[in-house]
Amino acid sequence: MANFIPYNQSQLMLLPLDIKEMIPEDHLVHAVDAVVEKLDLSSIYEKIQNSEGGRPCYHPLMLVKVLFYAYATGVRSSRKIAARLESDIFFMYLAAMQRPDFRTISDFRKEHLGQLKELFKQLVIICLELGMAKVGHIAIDGTKMRASAGRRRTKGEGKLEDMAEEIEKEIEEILEEAAETDEGEDRLYGDKRGDELPEELRKREDLLEKIEKAKETLKKRGLKEANITDPDCRFMQDADGGKDTSYNSQVAVDGEMQVIVANDVTSEVNDAHQFIPVYEQVGENTGKKPEEVSADCGYFSGENAIYIDRNKVDAYLPDQMFEKEVVEGIGEFDRRNFRYNEEEDTLTCPGGKRLVFKQNYMQNGIRSRLYIGEECFSCERRVECTRGKARHIKVSEVDGLVKRMREKLLTEEGKERYKKRLSTVEPVLGNLKRNLGYRDFLLRGIDKVKGEFNLMCIAHNLKKIHKHLVCKEGGEFSAMRKRNDERSLSFLTSFTERVTGKIKNILSKSIISICSLLKGELAAI
Ligand code: SF4
Repeated sequence: MANFIPYNQSQLMLLPLDIKEMIPEDHLVHAVDAVVEKLDLSSIYEKIQNSEGGRPCYHPLMLVKVLFYAYATGVRSSRKIAARLESDIFFMYLAAMQRPDFRTISDFRKEHLGQLKELFKQLVIICLELGMAKVGHIAIDGTKMRASAGRRRTKGEGKLEDMAEEIEKEIEEILEEAAETDEGEDRLYGDKRGDELPEELRKREDLLEKIEKAKETLKKRGLKEANITDPDCRFMQDADGGKDTSYNSQVAVDGEMQVIVANDVTSEVNDAHQFIPVYEQVGENTGKKPEEVSADCGYFSGENAIYIDRNKVDAYLPDQMFEKEVVEGIGEFDRRNFRYNEEEDTLTCPGGKRLVFKQNYMQNGIRSRLYIGEECFSCERRVECTRGKARHIKVSEVDGLVKRMREKLLTEEGKERYKKRLSTVEPVLGNLKRNLGYRDFLLRGIDKVKGEFNLMCIAHNLKKIHKHLVCKEGGEFSAMRKRNDERSLSFLTSFTERVTGKIKNILSKSIISICSLLKGELAAI
């Protein structure tokens, strides 16, 4: 006869249930709980002004823990988070059984998106203190993430004008109709005061406002088209070749344990303008200059090459033609086969003919000199060399830097360093998009999207901290917690103090570092 464990849902508990006891000792929820306890949330506290007799609000510490844990487990819709607070013991534990509704969660997230950048910085410092990041090899990369805006709502200037005209006409008609008779007015306003906008009119007014905003964006940024729902997003091509309304998310990842040390989001399709700000943000967040940095050819530009040279950055950054010209080889008439003669200030072509200096150029802040072939008109191989009547060669101040970078990338060490980029940053983007499911944004507008991406990066780093403490330190995590006083502030503190001896005073260090950074005292850190 089968033997079962007795099952009775009406069984009374002898003692009140402690939800903490139901959570595995090395669960992610403990790491999130402990780390958030260590963060300085004063910037959030300062923003909340309800002490003057107002209704008490939910504790920010609880809401931050819930939000961070939700993002670390791929749950980010405020409605889903609110539902988890009623059904998921991990959420219930973090919230101490409190149940803020979805609106409270959503408003808290929106109101404090600006403070998330600072919390992200504090988390980076904790990772540094735990030895999870060394700011040795830093790899920069970006990924396109869909905006919360339908592609069909992207319109050109002409279409926006037509729509605005049409809606203005409709608004006029509604107002005329409303003014016609008292009866009509009653029908429109019902038992409301009468000075409120009828629903139909309000919808059109809102749409008109959005269209005006999109038109403004077009003008300000010199774009051909803008999205009505979210004017900050742009049409971008993703890695699979599909095109959608998106944002370009950027990360700088530390090579030690794949901790994200800087992040940003831009509306620019091209990555080239992101190299310098993201690289500099690594210094701001960590207080250290990276020993080396790598990025793919999408980040190359003359401006970046000059920046790397002037700031003595040990960079591994190929130009866009590196793959084609160096790895696949160059043709006989490639510009690199034209020799420069310093004494004469001329170039000699592969056919032994001269190209003489014609004029100076300045393009995007990069100086160039233009040389033109003297004897091309009589050259037998002209069709192989140029489509014009004479060969033109532009020699830029960046050419020497590109040559040096190519030579560096072709050494065995250079190849190794550049290869490290792949194993450093790509798994991180894969984790964000595939494991956590962050392929799109929920929020709209560049500032909110930047805040949301900060949350995603915080979630990634929290999971890294958890993995580091649980996996790397073996069973110590569980054993330590068992020995700990349950009422102590956090078992993580004792654990990390005993095991690494590094986490002590992280909070004060974080505050000092951040204050110093804010004062621009990077060098002193
Ligand atoms: S076309 Fe002009 S530059 Fe080219 S090989 Fe002939 S002479 Fe030289």
